[in-house]
Amino acid sequence: MELSDSVTTLKGIGPKKAELLAGQGIFTLNDIIMRFPRKYEDRREIIPVSELQAGKDQLIHVKVLSRRYSGFRYKKKSPLLLLCEDDSGGRIEVVFFNGAYIANLFNAGAEYTFYGRVTENRGALQMVHPEFHRKGDPDDIRGIIPVYPGTEGISQNEYRRMVRACEPLIDGIGEWLPGDLPERYRLADPAFAVRNIHFPDDEKKIRQARYRLIFDELLTLETGMLSIRGQIADWKSGAVIDPAPADEFVKTLPFELTDGQKEAWKDISDDLMSHKAMNRLIQGDVGSGKTVIAEMAMFAAVKSGYQAVMMAPTEILAKQHFKTLTDDLSMLGIRIAILTGSMKQKNKNETLKRLADGDIDVLIGTHALIEPGVQFHSLGLAVTDEQHRFGVEQRHMLSGKGEGINIMVMTATPIPRTLAVIIYGDLDISQIHTMPAGRKKIITKVAHPEDRMVMYDFVKKKMRQGQQAYVVAPLISESDKIDANSAEELFDELSDLFRGFRLALLHGSIDPAEKDRIMTDFADHKIDMLISTVVIEIGINVPNATVMVIENCERFGLAQMHQLRGRVGRGSEKSYCFLVMEHESDIALQRAAILEESSDGFRIAEEDLRLRGPGEIFGTKQHGIPELNISDLVSHADVLEKAKQAAQDILHDDPHLTADQDQALKKRVRNMFGDDIHLEL
Ligand code: ADP
Ligand code: MG
Repeated sequence: MELSDSVTTLKGIGPKKAELLAGQGIFTLNDIIMRFPRKYEDRREIIPVSELQAGKDQLIHVKVLSRRYSGFRYKKKSPLLLLCEDDSGGRIEVVFFNGAYIANLFNAGAEYTFYGRVTENRGALQMVHPEFHRKGDPDDIRGIIPVYPGTEGISQNEYRRMVRACEPLIDGIGEWLPGDLPERYRLADPAFAVRNIHFPDDEKKIRQARYRLIFDELLTLETGMLSIRGQIADWKSGAVIDPAPADEFVKTLPFELTDGQKEAWKDISDDLMSHKAMNRLIQGDVGSGKTVIAEMAMFAAVKSGYQAVMMAPTEILAKQHFKTLTDDLSMLGIRIAILTGSMKQKNKNETLKRLADGDIDVLIGTHALIEPGVQFHSLGLAVTDEQHRFGVEQRHMLSGKGEGINIMVMTATPIPRTLAVIIYGDLDISQIHTMPAGRKKIITKVAHPEDRMVMYDFVKKKMRQGQQAYVVAPLISESDKIDANSAEELFDELSDLFRGFRLALLHGSIDPAEKDRIMTDFADHKIDMLISTVVIEIGINVPNATVMVIENCERFGLAQMHQLRGRVGRGSEKSYCFLVMEHESDIALQRAAILEESSDGFRIAEEDLRLRGPGEIFGTKQHGIPELNISDLVSHADVLEKAKQAAQDILHDDPHLTADQDQALKKRVRNMFGDDIHLEL
């Protein structure tokens, strides 16, 4: 038996079970032992029956006083009932429904150990379907028992048996980390770690084992992340841009820059002037004024003889930026153009030609910008907005449009710094913590279903005063599976209720051109109320909209609701956000309370992480981070820091992991990242 053997070499694993396992990415014996327990049940202590507490999982050791099983009766399954007692004198009934397959395992007078949830039924204690020790079975139900992540069709006991069957192979796992790394980071050896993660004697060993395995995983992750970024980090020189001319643009603005904007600009100025290419993330809440900063940088780039490009995640957003930039910069002699996927080929070709000839200074667009046909004359600065919508790869493709391009990434997702450091590992970070003066707090209130009419009356009043409203629902159309409001249903209902007003429906499956038209109409105030799904979450700017109603707020995350709320409060009028809570829960109430009280995106992001709790990784998939098995980027931030250092040291000595001692790591990195992503290894 070897670790690389198929799972079918184990007794009891036939083609059916193998298929179930394969569906979970488990093919070999190694895969079995590399799936780690999610948690442990402490079943070390046997509880006397007289001291059992209802509602808890507990371990008992009892003698069967009587056994009742009536066998099959007219095909009806009958239960097996065991009345049991222990030395404490307490009695408990152990019940197995459908007792047929189990009835012969128990005898009156014999003693057994059971583990399960204790319940109380009219004063009598019961334990239904407990785990127990079968004769001839190696697994023990007493001790610290691992609980594995769910594998459909395979029970915990079955999985434990599989792991136990692989146990003899564990000692064969050798040290795979290169050099003196294990000593330097005081890591337990891998065989010890794997053994104790599955079969721990005590908590201390679990801790040591977990630390080693978390370190392994995060080291692999960081090595991969740094390798994707190798291309950028290697650049020695970047286009040198003189930031000074930006003042000329700033003078035309009807406002003063905020302190946060000034600080971010100071960071950017230093980057632009230096001979090293800029790689900077600007984190700032919605409305904190990131676009102005981007305009300053683009203006300076053009004045230094370069072209600049700005990529937005959606067409609507690209158009909006195009309009803003045209309004702000064209009078200063900057030539601005837009490129999106939906443009006619003829217009596209024309734009591409002007771009290549250097007749366009600033190009705005969607991901259409990264297509191979897009060739710049002299690109010096690339800005991407709302970066979290783009994969790492896309950013790199954009920056591959020239040599030494300065990169600026703007995000309105205020990820805590610890997380940003890993997600944007190669980027320097500037945070804008101030909001433009005079920005009023958006009044945020929870509305319960019975408050609906009052709320709607209020919305009516605002619309009569010439303001506009958003209503956001979690679903597009009605669903039998999910008990929540849909945009379509609401649109029908509200069309009745708000007769005389102009309502429109917007969601992701509406044709893009139609979507665009609706958005434009809403921006032009040809529509009073927009009923939509979260498609409006990002970017759009309609200062006349002052009311945001979030339906089924219990279904939205904190950060998401904060983004949605950011759609209002953009003009001079006071704005309102209603959180309609249909299904009350502790977590929903906590989220709502935070939103009612705070408008600081950074604080909200941190609360969001705290409420989600460790174990749930912060939207890592959309950031292009592979799924993690045992680590958690939030609660293991300290290990992450160390793993990152170790990864940097390894890659410094051996950038392409060609040395023999780095082969095991290289293999792990490739396994973790798969083929979807291009690694510089
Ligand atoms: P973000 O992209 O960070 O969400 P924007 O750049 O779109 O924010 O800015 C939101 C609004 O605030 C815009 O209308 C912009 O003109 C305005 N704005 C930006 N900076 C300031 C400032 N310092 N003072 C007042 N208004 C500002
Ligand atoms: Mg913006």
